[in-house]
Amino acid sequence: MDFKGLRVNGKRLQDSVEEMAEIGATPNGGMQRLALSEEDKRARDLFVRWLKALNLEIIIDDMGNIFGNRPGRAPGLSPIMSGSHMDSQPKGGRFDGVLGVMGALEVLRTLCEHDIETERSVTIVNWTNEEGSRFAPAMVGSGVWTGALDRDWAYDRTDINGRRFEDELIRISYQGSAPARKWPVHVYYEYHIEQGPILESQGKTIGAPKGILCLHWYDVYVEGEANQVGPTPMAGRHDALCASAEMILKVNELPQRMGGNMVATVGEIQNYPNSRNIIPDKVHFTVDIRSWDDGHARKAWDMVRSDFEEIAARRGCSIKIEETWRVEHSPFDVKLVQRILEIAEELGYESLHTVSGAGHDASYMSRVCPTAMIFVPSIGGRSHVEVEDTAWEDCEAGANVLLHAVLQSANEE
Ligand SMILES: [Zn+2]
Repeated sequence: MDFKGLRVNGKRLQDSVEEMAEIGATPNGGMQRLALSEEDKRARDLFVRWLKALNLEIIIDDMGNIFGNRPGRAPGLSPIMSGSHMDSQPKGGRFDGVLGVMGALEVLRTLCEHDIETERSVTIVNWTNEEGSRFAPAMVGSGVWTGALDRDWAYDRTDINGRRFEDELIRISYQGSAPARKWPVHVYYEYHIEQGPILESQGKTIGAPKGILCLHWYDVYVEGEANQVGPTPMAGRHDALCASAEMILKVNELPQRMGGNMVATVGEIQNYPNSRNIIPDKVHFTVDIRSWDDGHARKAWDMVRSDFEEIAARRGCSIKIEETWRVEHSPFDVKLVQRILEIAEELGYESLHTVSGAGHDASYMSRVCPTAMIFVPSIGGRSHVEVEDTAWEDCEAGANVLLHAVLQSANEE
């Protein structure tokens, strides 16, 4: 059968994204749907209702990951999987993650509507807690499912109010009975907004990342000596905040010093006692280093770490460093990435071979099966903010690429 002319229903995709966006909608047009919150539960309930309407086989595992399977003609062959996440950042946007789940849903609806049978089964997935903003770290649902993270360790993560992950999973009734454990998957496709400015600035509609940058997280604790600001002379102070300020600029300068493809960021800082008339004696800040090259990122860290030690010593402070989280860079399947670019061309969309600076569930998935992602432009390159936006015609374009990628993979040996 020739599927060349087949397209998704862009209006139906838009309606689904908009209906989902009402759950946890914020006054400024964004969305707040933290993992395992009341809003997350309502979004899941709606999602499961939509899966049932398509007569999919629904599996909910003990991490709360939700799968909907549309059987193929050859039950012995491993399925195609596609999806993303429906949780959001605090005051996040309406597209991050959700578009990938709704896009996969639109693909399944299109297949059902046209009575299209595939050789392989097609499975849609909503991964639990991709964002990691309520329960750190990120990508926990896919991390446990792929075997990269331990389930009981994930269960014991707590939020800022001390609530346990597992207790919250039970509270929203999404601790399923199936073990969160990988099964053979032929191909995983994740459709997502770009969350950066490259596609828009180059006037392209579809991005096909060759993979995801490595992600190295550190926590830095600087300790000095508190004192009354008035009577204490400038000379001989042990000011933990001034030491940290110098260190933070070193992080900012790092990519330029190192050269190559790299970004380095301090995004979080706590200053103690945080009083205008006390010299700060304790500062905690985070460091996030990302690069395509793990070795390059580690070298950069070694360099900045020795800067930190020099600065601390010079300013009479002590320093403690924790290596919090490391995810190696994740190359995607070369053939699948090429396939995405070819399909985009066949459908008449301008495309770009790129990389992903953001982490995604596809990062863990790429370790257990051939994986690729499809990006569409983020307006103004903005994401994780309420103004996050993507043009509806681009949303439709990405879903059409996903549709044809799924069809090709689902009908191959
Ligand atoms: Zn996302």
